[in-house]
Amino acid sequence: MLVSSGLVKIEDIDYLESNDLDTLLNKILNYLKHITHCDAGSIYLKDGNDLTFHIFQNNSFSQMTIDNIQIPLKKMKFEIKKDSNTIAVESFITKKIITIDDIYKNNDFDFKSSKEFDIKFNYKTKSILTAPLINFYSGESIGVLQLINKQSGNNLTSFTNEDKDFISLSSYLIALSIITTKQSQETLRKINKNIEKQIISRTKSLEDIQHQLLEQVNKDPMTELFNRRYFNEINENLLSITKKSNSDMSIIMLDVDNFKTINDTYGHSVGDIVICNISDILKKSTRTSDICVRFGGEEFVVVLPKTSLENSVKIAEKIRKTIENAQTLIEQNEVIKYTVSVGVSKIEALDNSIVTALNRADTLLYEAKSLGKNLVRF
Ligand code: GH3
Ligand code: MG
Ligand code: MG
Repeated sequence: MLVSSGLVKIEDIDYLESNDLDTLLNKILNYLKHITHCDAGSIYLKDGNDLTFHIFQNNSFSQMTIDNIQIPLKKMKFEIKKDSNTIAVESFITKKIITIDDIYKNNDFDFKSSKEFDIKFNYKTKSILTAPLINFYSGESIGVLQLINKQSGNNLTSFTNEDKDFISLSSYLIALSIITTKQSQETLRKINKNIEKQIISRTKSLEDIQHQLLEQVNKDPMTELFNRRYFNEINENLLSITKKSNSDMSIIMLDVDNFKTINDTYGHSVGDIVICNISDILKKSTRTSDICVRFGGEEFVVVLPKTSLENSVKIAEKIRKTIENAQTLIEQNEVIKYTVSVGVSKIEALDNSIVTALNRADTLLYEAKSLGKNLVRF
């Protein structure tokens, strides 16, 4: 709150709660207007090669009108150049306070924007005091402060030498507070940017870890095929998607023939190589939408969404043949060969679990075994 004598008491000052530049400039302008007894004022700050409008106040208008006026004013700027005919630019360049008693009787500047403003808003601008805002350290102008229509009682009068002295001294402090606010805003912006970066990078590594964990939980480490746990988890979803989309889904089940003999003859590590080779063949022979699962030791399941039994049998046959023709080189340049038996079944409309279809595939697989192995049964 401000006292009416024209002086501001320390206890009456509203301290700033934020380091928002516009809030600061508004408060400053409010005090200056009050102390020097004038009706209006504005502040321009240097932005590149322009003086850009920042704050406007006018006691003759309601705050709502001022808010509306400020929107177009905010786009206003004056190019900083010599002989511009603009009082703000002149004060900025010469670093001098300029006072004008009546803009309509002055020929030094054109006061184009003030006169346009008067017509547009039915106002009468008379006296003006324009002061440069100077950086105390570098001596450079950072902007311009403008006070308008000095009052004496109800009458308009001219700015006094005391006004000039007071503003001259204040302008350095104002410039300093603007610089400090801008700097702290910049620091805050940098800190925020840094925090944002850290959050993004941590989120990314968390996502990576989550992805890795999911891979570990869902995949068999030796073959990198999905594991049985994953198969059990997606079972229900797959079934309901298939039923909803009214599409076919098939299941291929494979078991390595005489695998025990491979292990017994060449050793467990050769057995592992065979399992990995078969896994690679499965991956290469299927689409990315198919789900290849290492179901047990040397047992595999491939789930083929949107695939008819006929097509699945073709795929199964292709897999069987590829495995039959595969030549696996082991130590001492020895080549070993192996085969698989395969059962293929389709999800039926009445199936209430994929396991039902899986059991049919399993039965067919053992039929293949009993019929002599290295066969596809459907
Ligand atoms: P069939 O043709 O009837 O399927 O005969 P099989 O010998 O393949 O059948 P069986 O189920 O008797 O043998 C499977 C063997 O697979 C038993 C087990 O020791 C072996 N096995 C299971 N998992 C692994 C593995 O990860 N690595 C190796 N090397 N062997 C495994
Ligand atoms: Mg087996
Ligand atoms: Mg076997």
